Amino acid sequence: MNQYKHPTPLSFVLDDEKRQLTLIWSDEHESIHSWETLRWACPCAWCAGEGGQPGMLQNKTSLSIEETTLVNIEPVGRYGLTPIWEDGHHTGIFTYEKLRASCECQQCQDKRYFGK
Ligand SMILES: [Zn+2]
Ligand SMILES: [Zn+2]
Repeated sequence: MNQYKHPTPLSFVLDDEKRQLTLIWSDEHESIHSWETLRWACPCAWCAGEGGQPGMLQNKTSLSIEETTLVNIEPVGRYGLTPIWEDGHHTGIFTYEKLRASCECQQCQDKRYFGK
């Protein structure tokens, strides 16, 4: 019997000044994601490559302000989110699991560092 349900994000806050995204989860955790880190982690075929072909991100050393400015977030089914970037890019799907595992808050960083 597997009753475990992964927490889901209920709402989000975009901080223009810090250039970071905060997700508020169903278990009350607030996860932090810097826009730049999120953009570099875009898992879509265009950015990350596909079938052994390198993606757009592999050929870059820096991204423009438009490419790393988050303007909105849209839900994808019941498992993920798509960030909408200022340059119009919106094909990367980040699963809840992946987002939660990449949370940059102090609490989660400590957890990863110290184990448990
Ligand atoms: Zn992408
Ligand atoms: Zn966290």
